Amino acid sequence: MARSWAELLGEDAPDVEPEEERRGLFGRLRESLSRSREALTAEITAAAFDPGDELAWERLEEALIAGDVGVPATAVLVQRLEARGDAANLTDALADEVAQLLGEPGTLGIKGDPAVILVVGVNGTGKTTTARRDGRDVVIVDTAGRLHTQTNLMDELAKVRRVIASRVEGAPHETLLVVDATTGQNAVQQARLFKDAVEVTGVALTKLDGSARGGVAIPIAYELGLPVKLIGVGEKLEDLRPFDPQDFARALVSG
Ligand code: GDP
Repeated sequence: MARSWAELLGEDAPDVEPEEERRGLFGRLRESLSRSREALTAEITAAAFDPGDELAWERLEEALIAGDVGVPATAVLVQRLEARGDAANLTDALADEVAQLLGEPGTLGIKGDPAVILVVGVNGTGKTTTARRDGRDVVIVDTAGRLHTQTNLMDELAKVRRVIASRVEGAPHETLLVVDATTGQNAVQQARLFKDAVEVTGVALTKLDGSARGGVAIPIAYELGLPVKLIGVGEKLEDLRPFDPQDFARALVSG
């Protein structure tokens, strides 16, 4: 439970976080996602959910879409849940299926010499907060925020990337897109446009604390195929955490 930084950084000997700390981290994540969880599970935690009732499934579908899960992922989730026919444990089943859509836990590319991480995103998403994390031989290029709708600035970003690529072999080793979870579907749209402008290799999903829109991780991972690698649950350094699909799914819909 709870991915460690060593795992995220692809290091051979993962540092083992004490069980108590892991439990604390999961509790924090669960608390951060409480509003999102309430939104997503209101339908199926109601004792009245009847899997034989078409309308109940439709309401679940609506709840997932309203919870920023997006239409393609919602369709897959509902179809798989219906196929499981596991009505007694619907929230656990949902957590399981969500974890699958979130994909495998990724690693951060920091193997270059020096490793170059390009941090991109619109203003105020938490780019600078995210870039302050580790004392390694890593060059972090924290770009000025730009609106994904400003085509010339997006072109400029592609140029920044090309210049970096021509200076350091294999660079940027990671292009991290920072998106603010509270913006919901806008975050998905930003991710789509940044993905088109630069080769985004990972996403940091920030401001999950207090957001009811944590479901947005699902379309980012499933619909756009972008691996979420980091999550932000507050403004402090320790609030930036490696993303663990299983933990996240469980905290988002069951726990
Ligand atoms: P930038 O413009 O993308 O570089 O954004 P900043 O890193 O300056 O962050 C904008 C604001 O959001 C700052 O006040 C940060 O402290 C705050 N912030 C960043 N990440 C998080 C987060 O995960 N949760 C919360 N609540 N605030 C955050």
